Amino acid sequence: MSDWQKTGWRSKPRIQMPDYPDQAALADVEARLSKYPPLVFAGEARKLKTELGKASRGEAFLLQGGDCAESFKDFTADGIRDTFKVMLQMAMVLTYGAKVPVVKVGRMAGQFAKPRSAPTEVRDGTELPSYRGDIINELDFTEGARLPDPNKMLQAYTQAAATLNLLRAFSTGGFADVHRVHQWILGFTDRDEAEEYRAIADRITDTLDFISAAGMNGDTNHELSTVEFYTSHEALLLEYEEALTRIDSTSGRWLAGSGHMIWIGDRTRQPDGAHVEFAAGVQNPIGLKCGPSMTSGHLKALMAKLNPENEPGRLTLIARFGAGTVGEHLPRLVKAVQEEGANVVWSCDPMHGNTIKSSSGYKTRPFDSVLREVREFFGVHHAEGTIPGGVHFEMTGADVTECTGGVRAVTDEDLSSRYHTACDPRLNASQSLELAFLVAEELRN
Ligand code: PEP
Ligand code: MN
Repeated sequence: MSDWQKTGWRSKPRIQMPDYPDQAALADVEARLSKYPPLVFAGEARKLKTELGKASRGEAFLLQGGDCAESFKDFTADGIRDTFKVMLQMAMVLTYGAKVPVVKVGRMAGQFAKPRSAPTEVRDGTELPSYRGDIINELDFTEGARLPDPNKMLQAYTQAAATLNLLRAFSTGGFADVHRVHQWILGFTDRDEAEEYRAIADRITDTLDFISAAGMNGDTNHELSTVEFYTSHEALLLEYEEALTRIDSTSGRWLAGSGHMIWIGDRTRQPDGAHVEFAAGVQNPIGLKCGPSMTSGHLKALMAKLNPENEPGRLTLIARFGAGTVGEHLPRLVKAVQEEGANVVWSCDPMHGNTIKSSSGYKTRPFDSVLREVREFFGVHHAEGTIPGGVHFEMTGADVTECTGGVRAVTDEDLSSRYHTACDPRLNASQSLELAFLVAEELRN
């Protein structure tokens, strides 16, 4: 797109973005951010695109996961380490199932802005603007906290930079922990599937023992001592995205420097809207959330805008319909992709169509619904002869109680004990790993 401008989105209809009351402060922040270094580099984004191209052909499998919303308050080195670690464990299990490399992409280092179902929130007769993520305003229910403040973009940038710095350090730290695969499943022994999990763990351990006996372990084999880990977030706050968008000197093309992969949410995917306009012009891999209202016509229009050259790895379609409805919605979109001969990665987000209010009043997701949607997703792809290329989870390495169910059965009553998310409920470490085993089973079938 030679005539594309990083400011072009400004003349398109925008939704789900704040109206900053102090425009001078906004301009000042944008000017500062646009001089800061980009967080990611074009070569990295291109490498991820190549990897995703493989996933579109079934030669790799995408694992994308992390917080619904990163938070300023909960930002700790241990939190990043724990989520990174669980993702590596999940990747190991998925590699076993898929028999192809797993491409690891965190919802990390930029996942700060949230679309909301309503612009305002009413409590006890008081109406205030909705919380839109820490990059925009604050969760506290006061007028001051809910006022959008552009300076929060600078704090988000700083946190994202520190997160990436730590992730880059961990990425060269090796796979030491994966040798303890049997320990990960200790909590799963009372599950019907425990035998299958143990069999998978045995196979992984055998393979690692063989590698080590053959002298191909982490010390001598670069492939096993480093890991590629990428970052992603929803490109929702376009002032932030624009300020970090730069020309890549190698290709002369634009790059969103805020993260390796960005995605467009289910609420902001209007083909003529601001978010699609922005994503269309940057060379990063793009995710597109596909919810129940997506028609085949919308999808064809979006594919034409977002991937006119049909580049493999450019576009990942993230299906998020809700358990029990995948069979109703996914086939028409699979057909649209086939009719266009489009290269896409099909990924399954079994989180966003399965949010309910628990009897104890918390927003939650039943583990069984999450699992069921994953199975339905695989079922449709098997039936259509197409490739299930990845999964997209809201998860954390911490031992939270936000989604119900799983082997260590979190109940409605348990939700209050460690419910920490500022936005959507996440799978905890044990639920995430259990899901990875179940997906590995699906991949083997
Ligand atoms: C999300 O991924 O946090 C999100 C809001 O998803 P969706 O756009 O699919 O609702
Ligand atoms: Mn969410």
